[in-house]
Amino acid sequence: MNRPGQAPDISEPSQVPQGRVTRMLLRWLMRPAHVVSVETLSPHFRLVELEGEALRDVAWTAGQKIQVAMGAGLSARTYTPMSWDTGRGRTRLLAFAHGEGPGARWASGLRQGDTCQFFGPRRSLDLADLEAPVVLFGDETSFGLASALRDNLQAGGALHMFEVTDVLESQQVLEAISLGQARSIARSAGEEHLATVEAEMLRLAANGAQFVLTGKASSIQRISRALKAAGVASSRIKVKAYWAPDKTGLD
Ligand SMILES: Cc1cc2nc3c(=O)[nH]c(=O)nc-3n(C[C@H](O)[C@H](O)[C@H](O)COP(=O)(O)OP(=O)(O)OC[C@H]3O[C@@H](n4cnc5c(N)ncnc54)[C@H](O)[C@@H]3O)c2cc1C
Repeated sequence: MNRPGQAPDISEPSQVPQGRVTRMLLRWLMRPAHVVSVETLSPHFRLVELEGEALRDVAWTAGQKIQVAMGAGLSARTYTPMSWDTGRGRTRLLAFAHGEGPGARWASGLRQGDTCQFFGPRRSLDLADLEAPVVLFGDETSFGLASALRDNLQAGGALHMFEVTDVLESQQVLEAISLGQARSIARSAGEEHLATVEAEMLRLAANGAQFVLTGKASSIQRISRALKAAGVASSRIKVKAYWAPDKTGLD
């Protein structure tokens, strides 16, 4: 039996048949929320705070995801709660609006008082047993995760390295969410920047770090491969692709 907020056993909510009964059932399983605040941190980033009765007394851990329903249909887009106040029934997420997809349009158009529905929180990355030193590599979609990780990591902080399209904009946003120490590296057309990332990751691996790799699928695949080739055990690497070119609503 599913509880509210718990998605039925479907890997792609965007692809379930849209019969009336299915639609009603899914609506019943979602958590309704309203937007308490939406802060434009920069042209492409929105810091969103959601609140609702259904967000109280929720079991949430850092690294989990929510899947926000887009419009009246059943398609959904995935975001990472940065924090969850289970007493007040509030959660915050940081959305990177990168183009014209439903998620980007949703984030860019959000206003205080708007309502939304979502599945979750659901399991995504299990970060419970992480011990310092921890290194997080990701991109603009991983800033929210980095914030959640910072607030929940038991043993010390994490080092962050992000590949980003606009370094200035990203640093401004990272500072706004108290992650100003993070290192942002500019993407290059031929992915040459990943050689720098790789070298830095291998250097940190020698210090016994554990790795969390999120963001663009091909980038984290490359870094993960390099770490494993250097002898880093799979148990020290946690990987979750957040998006891939030409794929929509990756989950
Ligand atoms: C577990 C999980 C947690 C996530 N957490 C967050 C989060 O906290 N904040 C956040 O902003 N995103 C997060 N994402 C990523 C987000 O769900 C995707 O970026 C999603 O594709 C956005 O939906 P969209 O409708 O804007 O674009 P889509 O309709 O899904 O995609 C449209 C096009 O844009 C491309 N695209 C998708 N993402 C990017 C990108 N980042 N940069 C460049 N091109 C892209 C796609 O390949 C596609 O070609 C998360 C994803 C997962 C799986």
